[in-house]
Amino acid sequence: MQREFTISTTRHQELIDITGEAIKAVRDSGIKDGFCFVYIPHATAGVILNESADPNIKTDFLNALNRAILEHANYLHDRIDNNASAHIKSAIIGSSATIPIKNGNLQLGTWQAIMFCEFDGPRSSRHIIIKVCEDK
Ligand code: ZN
Repeated sequence: MQREFTISTTRHQELIDITGEAIKAVRDSGIKDGFCFVYIPHATAGVILNESADPNIKTDFLNALNRAILEHANYLHDRIDNNASAHIKSAIIGSSATIPIKNGNLQLGTWQAIMFCEFDGPRSSRHIIIKVCEDK
């Protein structure tokens, strides 16, 4: 079962908790044992599994990433559309996450959430694909 949806982002960079959408996709699939695959089909966005309960983690994560990957640091690609650092962040962070499903539940850790990562916003339409597969 595959579900596709879009979200809009309101900041240049931000993390958006999409765990609820994955839980709903798993519930609607009726699959009790398998995998939930979350995929972001964008070159300047990504997805992580991490803490969402304390919003400071989101800020700390983006601040640390921005210290490691500076914006506008004489990147060649900036001559085209001025977003090379967003592409680099997306490549390093990754575009997918896979979570096991057991007894109809995502096996996320207590403090783990699924978070969409915007690195080149704001954008009116960011696509997210969630595929739920049964383990037979
Ligand atoms: Zn670009």
